[in-house]
Amino acid sequence: MPRIFSGIKPTGHLTLGNYLGAVRQWVDVDQHKADALFCVVDLHALTVDHDPARVRRLSRQAATLLLAAGLEPARCTVFVQSHVHEHTRLAYLLECTASDGEMRRMIQYKEKSARERAVGGNVRLSLLTYPVLMAADILAYAADEVPVGDDQAQHVELTRDLAVRFNQRYGRTFTVPKAVVPAVAARVMDLQDPLSKMGKSHAETAGIVYLLDEADIVRKKIMRAVTDSGSDVVYDPEERPGVANLLEILAACTGGKPADLAEHYSSYGALKQDTADAVLALLQPVRDRHAELCADPGYVDAVLREGAERARSLARPTVDAAYAAIGL
Ligand code: ADP
Repeated sequence: MPRIFSGIKPTGHLTLGNYLGAVRQWVDVDQHKADALFCVVDLHALTVDHDPARVRRLSRQAATLLLAAGLEPARCTVFVQSHVHEHTRLAYLLECTASDGEMRRMIQYKEKSARERAVGGNVRLSLLTYPVLMAADILAYAADEVPVGDDQAQHVELTRDLAVRFNQRYGRTFTVPKAVVPAVAARVMDLQDPLSKMGKSHAETAGIVYLLDEADIVRKKIMRAVTDSGSDVVYDPEERPGVANLLEILAACTGGKPADLAEHYSSYGALKQDTADAVLALLQPVRDRHAELCADPGYVDAVLREGAERARSLARPTVDAAYAAIGL
């Protein structure tokens, strides 16, 4: 059975992009076909300016939402990264395998560090080394597959490079993983700015649908989505990114193809109504289950404790082997 690892950063409230691009695939497919581990990667949330209480709260909320979305602890391992010290133990060895040049070439580093500098902020060293910790997250579990949105594909490539390099230099230690990007909704875009992705780490705007938004807010955000000055509904991501994004969201929710769905609509209003209905039908059960789980914190604690124990038992032999191989 293949091993799958994936993670989510508690840097903000989970969005529709996280759900359609990642979590739904974990729930519907990955936990059934593989020995799957899903991790709230809280250490990664410290790479940018953060508020300790908020990170703790968001971390808990993300874990609760993963369970609410349908991850079943009997089928998969759900845990929090900082509960398992093997991640940071391995990250250091991988830092001794990577070069600073390859870190500086990472697109996300370039974008995020430029944003930080633009507002006069300090770029934390951990932002530069973040992909190494992510590589450790994956390699510690000998994962074969890493389901990610296409924004993370470059980091998985780097993980492969580091694994191959370590294996060649110090002897075969790591499984070389591959990224698996979902075909539909690989990238959900911001409803107000369809050229940028709907990201939970971005400042909260009306263009971002959060999983825990009230139903009327979700509807309002979708009804106010930016389209363009035309009125006919066609699927053209280059020329009509706003409409294409709505069609992709609708397709991801209903299972159709964006171009086929376009033919059913003669106005943006009807497309938005149906998209809002489809999104709400998908999110309502998740929101209901989230409320139930919040009323039972002992259950969530137990799931995360057992998840961390299992994760630790899987990671330790690989990380110990890496320490031995590198000469320690
Ligand atoms: P974010 O960018 O929202 O902070 P994370 O880095 O925590 O998200 O990623 C969690 C998962 O969600 C990753 O697999 C990522 O590729 C996916 N993801 C994040 N945003 C989107 C989006 N707008 N569309 C599709 N997938 C996304």
